[in-house]
Amino acid sequence: MSRRRRRLAAVLAAFLAGALLLAGCGAAGAPPNLAPQVTAHRPLPANAQVNPEIDNEGAVNDDCGNPTASLRPKGIATPRGSTMAEIKRRGILRVGVDQNTFLFGFRNPATGNLEGFDIAVASEIATALFGDPNRVRFKAITSQQRIDVLRDGTVDVVVRTMTINCERRELIEFSSVYFVAGQRVLVTKRSGYTGLADLAGKKVCATTGSTSLSNIASAASGPVPVAVDNWSDCLVLLQQGQVEAISTDDTILAGMAQQDPATHVVGPKFTSEPYGVGIPKEDTDMVRYVNAVLAKFRKSTWQAVYDRWIEPALGPGTPPEPTYK
Ligand code: GLU
Repeated sequence: MSRRRRRLAAVLAAFLAGALLLAGCGAAGAPPNLAPQVTAHRPLPANAQVNPEIDNEGAVNDDCGNPTASLRPKGIATPRGSTMAEIKRRGILRVGVDQNTFLFGFRNPATGNLEGFDIAVASEIATALFGDPNRVRFKAITSQQRIDVLRDGTVDVVVRTMTINCERRELIEFSSVYFVAGQRVLVTKRSGYTGLADLAGKKVCATTGSTSLSNIASAASGPVPVAVDNWSDCLVLLQQGQVEAISTDDTILAGMAQQDPATHVVGPKFTSEPYGVGIPKEDTDMVRYVNAVLAKFRKSTWQAVYDRWIEPALGPGTPPEPTYK
């Protein structure tokens, strides 16, 4: 036998001895101590809450007449000392938007840019102020942060699928209506659910601080609201089977149904959600200015923006008529 073969034989012999020893161990004596078995806990997204307390922004007056009646436009002059002049002096418009809602405010993964209907509205305001749609600094915010970033001056305006209502009007101003959505329900196709009425005692997801969450909590059929920070968190929870449905504006749900063809939108629209641009309460000059921009937008690019983002999902649409006080 060569030296090499002898060494190999020795190694094999040692291996065999070890294997026999192990087999011997398994065959007799105390059974191995198995690791305790527990059911794996599926993680929830950060800040997710099942059946949360719903804060309605400390509303004292939820009957303010027609909440969509806004201040009459006064043209697009930017007089000295105005909010608009201050923004022009700064050289950039700061806008609170969503970056997780396909079709309204989302990041295009190919370009890294924010796109969607709300982003187009923000660009219209920047174009009016600067003659340049790109003079915008976007700040991605959650539903819950919309009012705070306006009140603490972090942004000049919020364009983020934001429903105009009396509670919010107590804390901020709104432009005229630029879009009207309505709340519906998204479920997986194989679930067979046909609407909120089928979801008694079942978990239904919406974002904290949205009208959608309050509407789920007060629905007659008694679904269990699940609150998260972002609409994309709701979609993940539905895909994981951690909630049975998502309920929010048809616009947002249409985007999710396009992202996940195993889901679909069911049931009728059961609310009206008129979207407005959120503006700090004291900036009434900015409200009139944005309303002048929107008046022009409705007659010019509104249709093209709608047809690009919304028409394929929701069918033909026309711009909503503004109402003024
Ligand atoms: N339009 C509803 C709202 O303003 C839901 C949309 C959202 O929160 O993004 O509360």
